[in-house]
Amino acid sequence: MSGPSPSALLDRAHPAVGGLSPYQPGKPISELKREYGVEDVIKMASNESPIGPSPRAIEAAGRVLASVAEYPDGNGFELKAALARKHGVMPVQVTLGNGSNELLELIARIFLGPGRNAVISAHAFAIYELVSCVTGAQVKVARAFAPAHPRAYGHDLEAMAQELDDDTAVVFIANPNNPTGTWNTAAELQWFLGQVPPHVAVVLDEAYFDYVEAPEYPDGQAYLAHYPNLLVTRTFSKAFGLAGLRVGYGLSHPDLADLLNRIRQPFNVNNVAQAAALAALGDEGHLARAREVNRLGLRRLEQGLAALGLNYLPSVANFLCFQVPEAGRVFEALLREGVIVRPLHAYGLREFLRVSVGTESQNDRFLNTLQGALKQ
Ligand SMILES: *Cc1c(COP(=O)(O)O)cnc(C)c1O
Repeated sequence: MSGPSPSALLDRAHPAVGGLSPYQPGKPISELKREYGVEDVIKMASNESPIGPSPRAIEAAGRVLASVAEYPDGNGFELKAALARKHGVMPVQVTLGNGSNELLELIARIFLGPGRNAVISAHAFAIYELVSCVTGAQVKVARAFAPAHPRAYGHDLEAMAQELDDDTAVVFIANPNNPTGTWNTAAELQWFLGQVPPHVAVVLDEAYFDYVEAPEYPDGQAYLAHYPNLLVTRTFSKAFGLAGLRVGYGLSHPDLADLLNRIRQPFNVNNVAQAAALAALGDEGHLARAREVNRLGLRRLEQGLAALGLNYLPSVANFLCFQVPEAGRVFEALLREGVIVRPLHAYGLREFLRVSVGTESQNDRFLNTLQGALKQ
């Protein structure tokens, strides 16, 4: 572009912003078609639902399209009431977000800033660091479980507790974590919550809650009554298949919810998204199918990767993190064949790729294409 450069302006940007590396989303299908000229593309890179949302959600969204001239209900009355019923909490304990990522950002803005720090685990979901750094806060990264541990690369809550200091304001835990698929037990979580001083906010990110079937997996909501410093986040983006509409929510003590609600944009969740999420909540059958497709798909991918002689991290979510020699080359080779997965060098996992569970035919195509890519 010609004309004067905005460098004088950019020099005044918040120093924490200049140092950020932008979040790398999964490659969009349209981009791959454009760049590589492949027609038949499957995206297994963003942990989206292979069966999509409930038809009831689509229908509800369609109905609301007729009235998008109106602002949404800024208080999300009906959706909050339904979520409160589902979780057995009061509506004032629910905060709606533009995706659950917005909740992560809101809590960072409330409690973090220069002179404070956030504690996260190595290999944790990238957004925690992003939302913390922009506030000018420091980010303390606890070591994860060692590669030889049964939960290799997973959150080590004892190591995280050791990172807490007088300046810690927020701790982020992803359970299960993305991209590793690892998780923490109820006993570990309970212990950890007891270690955190009451003036430190604990964010328990349960984006994949609806997929997890491990018996010792804790339901964060059960700890809300004892820990008023706890924020549990959930989303409609994963098992509910509504990632494009951007709806998530937080469950917390009403006073914490009040703070979150004070600083969010008044219309942060649009009316189409609210209606779709509400209808999706009512379709238990669809959710059960999503779980079933995921259970079978995970098993298929595990078997297929093992048959190719590849290690993967045991996952309770809707994706698998697998180890492959020359991960960058394999990622590119898959792209050329129209299969999008996720490289993980930004997560300190250079030898790994992450694949989201797809439909039966997508899982098979991925495995076949991977087999070909490994031989090249
Ligand atoms: C996908 C994901 C989210 C959810 O993001 P939304 O903003 O709700 O779409 C949150 N946390 C983790 C760990 C995730 O993988």
